[in-house]
Amino acid sequence: MPTISLELFKMGDKKSFDYALEKMSCICGGIASPAYIDITYRFNDKVIVVKNVPVLRCENCEEIYSDALIEKRVEELAYKAMQEHKSFISFTDF
Ligand SMILES: [Zn+2]
Repeated sequence: MPTISLELFKMGDKKSFDYALEKMSCICGGIASPAYIDITYRFNDKVIVVKNVPVLRCENCEEIYSDALIEKRVEELAYKAMQEHKSFISFTDF
């Protein structure tokens, strides 16, 4: 059933957020590898935690490098969560 498979792929593709993080060298001389962290946002009196945000973290000095596009996406998710009165969401659910 190739037609149905294609439809499912398209649906899945729309819902997901494509990203790819490559290892990079850190300023300390170490290697920054893909990792998942929790980021806390504050909107006035509301606190939203976005879990499992993909970043690059240095294995040596723990420096975090984030992608601008992913940061923007995280902000959007946090804002949406705030409007829906949620206190935490997971980046990997979207
Ligand atoms: Zn480093």
